[in-house]
Amino acid sequence: MSDARRTHSAAERQTKRASFLASVVAAIEQSQPQLSIVATEPTIIVDGNYVLQGPGGPFDLYEVRLIIDYRYPTYAPKVFETGGRIPKDAGRHINPDGDCCVTVWEEWLAKTQNTTFSQFLWGPLHEFFLGQWWFEIKGEWPFGQRDHGARGLLQAYGDVLNVRPRQEIVLYYLRLLSQDWPKGHWLCPCGSGVNLRKCHRQELCELHERVPSVLARRMLRQLRLNLGLAVRHRKVRA
Ligand SMILES: [Zn+2]
Ligand SMILES: [Zn+2]
Repeated sequence: MSDARRTHSAAERQTKRASFLASVVAAIEQSQPQLSIVATEPTIIVDGNYVLQGPGGPFDLYEVRLIIDYRYPTYAPKVFETGGRIPKDAGRHINPDGDCCVTVWEEWLAKTQNTTFSQFLWGPLHEFFLGQWWFEIKGEWPFGQRDHGARGLLQAYGDVLNVRPRQEIVLYYLRLLSQDWPKGHWLCPCGSGVNLRKCHRQELCELHERVPSVLARRMLRQLRLNLGLAVRHRKVRA
């Protein structure tokens, strides 16, 4: 690569980072003004109160720290509840690292048109803390809360793929979709015992548009990790 091109791409990268940072600042000002940015390198760190909003206005808040990677939305922001209000256990959707299990990220990416940071702040994050607030009062989760861990992932991915949340089915679909193009000689996942080429090839190609191979590979990796299966390293292409 020539020096000129390298400089150009470094400048481009800087511009992208700056505009992402600006979008985070704007989203916070607009919808969560009790949060503030305390660091911008190498990741964006946000501290403060996350305020729950209802029809009658704000009604409660959680102290939080958000760690936001500039590669958003490829990487999900990490969210920590810092007020000591939520017990740090899986039953309350807290991950082993102590961060909040806000949403199944790949599911959100696959199902949501608008994946801006602002949308994250309004959507999944609000839903998460609203769920926690509800749990504190009722001792149960509101509608549609997924199980934590592997079961929850199977439910979420089954939903994205529109198949039953059974381990072998979801894994097979994800393995198929991980290929850049579904291989015609693979058995069709519908269980007909016939090659894909002669069966549901069209449907699978449509699914591929919603769940591109790069996303499928990440889902497969996440699922295998959560199921305690070995995670295969990607083959290096010759
Ligand atoms: Zn969870
Ligand atoms: Zn089929």
